[in-house]
Amino acid sequence: MLNIQNLHAEVDGKEILKGLTLSLNAGEVHAIMGPNGAGKSTLGYVLGGRNGYEATSGSVTFDGQDLLELEPHERAAAGLFLGFQYPVEIPGVSNVQFLREAANAQRRHRGEAPLSGAEFLKLARAQAAALGMDAEMLKRPVNVGFSGGEKKRNEMVQMGILNPKLAILDETDSGLDIDALKAVGEGINRIMRAPDKAVLLITHYQRLLDYVKPDFVHVLFDGRIVRSGGPELALELEREGYGALAA
Ligand code: ADP
Ligand code: MG
Ligand code: MG
Repeated sequence: MLNIQNLHAEVDGKEILKGLTLSLNAGEVHAIMGPNGAGKSTLGYVLGGRNGYEATSGSVTFDGQDLLELEPHERAAAGLFLGFQYPVEIPGVSNVQFLREAANAQRRHRGEAPLSGAEFLKLARAQAAALGMDAEMLKRPVNVGFSGGEKKRNEMVQMGILNPKLAILDETDSGLDIDALKAVGEGINRIMRAPDKAVLLITHYQRLLDYVKPDFVHVLFDGRIVRSGGPELALELEREGYGALAA
């Protein structure tokens, strides 16, 4: 599904990704772990197409398409979802407006009829309920005044509505209490654990991986994948820290 070959990328003229190679098949969950500043978020942004995060060499294909050629909205329409470490607040735009616009933009791009207001609300309420989010929050401006946990639940509601093929989730577990962590973990499993989907889970800690069991764990260090293994690698890192990698 996703094939990254020898990817180099820079931010502000500084090389951050230094030859990163990684591939994911449908049906798999891959975790990426690594110390602060390793380039984890940069990888997410480059894959999502964020301005200023420039791939300078190497290749990325998504379902056989050259991902780097696509605009961010085309990547989303192709089924890519990027969950942010710090979800943005959008004052003046309600969650419902935002989510419906996003869902219908994707449907238009696929040549599907847009959802009516009523159809959309039904879908949004079902997703909110599944995440344990009060439906009243759908009316509020996007993420404004939401707690850390509410923002992450809200992202999962958005993911449930958009129903992506590939989700790249950047520290979705940061700042979550135990209940929110469990709700988010279950949301990821419910929405994304399917034979035709894949997840790239970026995380510092093992704890989210207790809920979302990865098939593969990779260590990103100084812009490259330096180790790959199974779920036991996450436990080893938790025990021994990243310090040993630098040696
Ligand atoms: P991680 O998510 O693994 O903690 P990041 O991808 O956020 O790492 O950052 C990797 C490196 O890139 C860091 O040294 C960071 O300072 C640098 N970096 C990230 N974004 C920018 C930016 N917008 N401008 C300059 N440097 C940046
Ligand atoms: Mg960081
Ligand atoms: Mg980061």
